Amino acid sequence: MNSNMSISENLKNIKNSLPEHITLVAVSKTKPIADIQEAYDAGQRIFGENKIQEMVDKHHEMPKDIKWQMIGHLQRNKVKYMAHFVDLIHGVDSFKTLKEIDKQAKKHDRIINCLLQAKIAEEDSKFGLPFTTIEEILASEEFIALKNIKVVGLMGMSTFTDDTEQIKNEFSNLNSFFITLSNQYKTLNTLSIGMSGDYPLAIDCGSTMVRIGSAIFGSRQLTN
Ligand SMILES: *Cc1c(COP(=O)(O)O)cnc(C)c1O
Repeated sequence: MNSNMSISENLKNIKNSLPEHITLVAVSKTKPIADIQEAYDAGQRIFGENKIQEMVDKHHEMPKDIKWQMIGHLQRNKVKYMAHFVDLIHGVDSFKTLKEIDKQAKKHDRIINCLLQAKIAEEDSKFGLPFTTIEEILASEEFIALKNIKVVGLMGMSTFTDDTEQIKNEFSNLNSFFITLSNQYKTLNTLSIGMSGDYPLAIDCGSTMVRIGSAIFGSRQLTN
């Protein structure tokens, strides 16, 4: 990616390269309002943030037709701050969190769409649920009783490595699991895999939603 290109040019190039069925989440974490506005003016409406407070502040300042998605690890005690507007929560990795989202959504008379984060990376630092736990959650009575959340799919993050074979294996495993589940549960239609460094591979492996930050907005100061 040419670093001299503008946000709107980066966005246009990426959008043109994506198959039509792929949803693009523009990851704007750490980026200022002016950068988000440039992407908005170029037609982008779905933005991803990884800190609840930062997303709340940006939601407050930006046009109200933006769909704000939470892609980061969730602090349960902060779910209440975004419950009235968040469009999709990607990183749900415990039943406790799902229950909290349901409780907060209920207060606003909403149904919040969620993705369960599956553990696919080797390293311990990556959050996520084992596939068996995801199956147990979806089949449980307690889950079925939650009326203010809707699980619409799965999210995953690959190991941070240059080994494309490994990344491909991790994405493919998740996709196979996703296909099996989505045959069983008709509400599951979203597979959120792929970031700036690996999204073409993720799309080859069945992604329906990519989360792209630095390839649109340039590199970030902080390493998150
Ligand atoms: C930061 C982040 C992204 C985007 O990363 P880039 O490499 O900048 O595209 C995607 N997903 C999650 C969960 C992130 O935290």
